[in-house]
Amino acid sequence: MAALVVEQASSESLARPHADDRIKYPDAPTLHLPYLTESETRSQPRSRAVSRSSTPLSRPRVSPPPSYTSANPPTKLQALAEATNLDVNLIAEAIMVHLNRVATDAEVKDGNTLVDGLESIRFEPADEEDQFTATVYGSRYAAEDLPRYEMPDREMPKEVAYRMIKDDLTLDGTPTLNLASFVTTYMEEEAEKLMVECFSKNFIDYEEYPVSADIQNRCVSMIARLFNIPAHDEGTNAMGTSTIGSSEAIMLAVLAMKKLWQNKRKAEGKPYHQPNIIMNSAVQVCWEKAARYFDVEERYVYCTEDRFVIDPKEAIDLIDENTIGICAILGTTYTGEYEDVKGLNDLLVEKNLDVPIHVDAASGGFVAPFVNPGLLWDFRLPKVVSINVSGHKYGLVYPGVGWVVWRDPKYLPKELVFNINYLGADQASFTLNFSRGASQIIGQYYQMIRLGKRGYRSIMLNLTRTADYLAANLEQLGFIILSERSGNGLPLVAARIDEDLGKQYDEFAIAHQLRERGWVVPAYTMAPHSEKMKLMRIVVREDFTRSRCDALITDIKLALQTLDAMDRKKIEEQKEHAAGISRRATWTGRHNRLPTNMFAGETHSLQGKHGKTHGVC
Ligand SMILES: *Cc1c(COP(=O)(O)O)cnc(C)c1O
Repeated sequence: MAALVVEQASSESLARPHADDRIKYPDAPTLHLPYLTESETRSQPRSRAVSRSSTPLSRPRVSPPPSYTSANPPTKLQALAEATNLDVNLIAEAIMVHLNRVATDAEVKDGNTLVDGLESIRFEPADEEDQFTATVYGSRYAAEDLPRYEMPDREMPKEVAYRMIKDDLTLDGTPTLNLASFVTTYMEEEAEKLMVECFSKNFIDYEEYPVSADIQNRCVSMIARLFNIPAHDEGTNAMGTSTIGSSEAIMLAVLAMKKLWQNKRKAEGKPYHQPNIIMNSAVQVCWEKAARYFDVEERYVYCTEDRFVIDPKEAIDLIDENTIGICAILGTTYTGEYEDVKGLNDLLVEKNLDVPIHVDAASGGFVAPFVNPGLLWDFRLPKVVSINVSGHKYGLVYPGVGWVVWRDPKYLPKELVFNINYLGADQASFTLNFSRGASQIIGQYYQMIRLGKRGYRSIMLNLTRTADYLAANLEQLGFIILSERSGNGLPLVAARIDEDLGKQYDEFAIAHQLRERGWVVPAYTMAPHSEKMKLMRIVVREDFTRSRCDALITDIKLALQTLDAMDRKKIEEQKEHAAGISRRATWTGRHNRLPTNMFAGETHSLQGKHGKTHGVC
């Protein structure tokens, strides 16, 4: 509302100085009420300032002696002035009323020109239908579709823009009911406040924001130590950086491994154009991207019907002279299992193979150190050269922040690192992005010093207990549990229907039923070579309490009862209906999603080749 109100006030106030000059006190016969125009009332500070400055300087200090008659009685104000012996103008001023004569049209027209000769220049009058006077929902905007394709020609009031977008977003799911994602949906108010306060800081401006840069470095150090970087060794010199997420972190790690391998090959006078990387077919899509974007051949260790993690021996057998590294996942997105990093490490050592391991600890990096500190997966293993973690997953920060740490600068080829002399300060930089917000980095620091190791541990232990509790309940309901328990994997429950129960419906049907209640529980098929298997996955995050867990269990029971009571045809209809809703929900309207069709049906990815659906993360 304010935006338009100010405009009204300013066009009026343009007229006023001249109009006021014409008031010849004390000729004004009566006092007009109300003295403030509607727009003045709504933008008090501004219009009052204008009015005060327009008070005629020629105004006499003392009122002329009154000569009231019965035909000319005193007004209330004049009577008050009489009684108090005060100047009537001062009283008027004190009670903040202004004696004003309504300007005529001619005066208004005249008054619009401040400089003689420019009478023809006019502010464009506000378009009647643009006036935003009632509520948002009384305005024309509520009766129109929001702009979709073309930037609108004109502005809209900020309240309208805010409310209309906010209302549009209500068709999004509720983040706390989204059990599909690992990404943080809760932070304390103090953390939020701190992050909002830093929204305007560009992290890359090291010179401008040296404390933010320093805070990043403190985070890198804390995370590297959490991953047991051998800091006691005088010779170690671990390096690390913040990123937008694990994807960027993994891109950087793959680039480093590729360059390192190329440099080694060049030094040996050998061909260096066909690098390959070894990983599980259950990798997160960013690994496929990294391989493809940087021209590295993907070598997969495929999952089987009952193994969803990398098989160390198979992985080692895939190594050849062109292998730049092996990816090991600490917490796969499908079942949350930790891959056997130690097994990989030991085989490499045993066979004396000079191939590095990168650990993708996107989810597990902030869980395992607190729940399962004895598990050997990190820099305690000599073959692990780099590790990434998502700060916005179990690091407990809103998206997007990730981290990547290298054991030693020797794993970080110099040609990838840029020394940017930015506004006078020299900073080594290895990132894909340049500008980024500082808020998430500061949020990460807040969480680490606010919670400390004990705080993280209490949270992660609670999540582990909740996940175990949920798994036990689902098992009781007839599900087969595919995820680990007791902290041997991520705090999530991956489960599937026991085929021996002869159910007519599948995991997707259950997911659709739960969706009706607002729960987002993803159903998907497993990674290639085990893709016939369907499963559901429930991620237990910080804000998923025991009581919310009970509510979910109740709703799952209800969903099963509902589905049990349906015949196959009805189940299919339900699925169609739910799928239709979820398709539509992504575009909240009548318009087709045009641009993406162009890339539909790609055949280069694991999904394109095997129909694997990526687990949400
Ligand atoms: C989430 C995830 C990623 C990608 O991380 P972002 O932070 O979302 O970019 C990579 N690998 C694994 C195992 C993940 O769970």
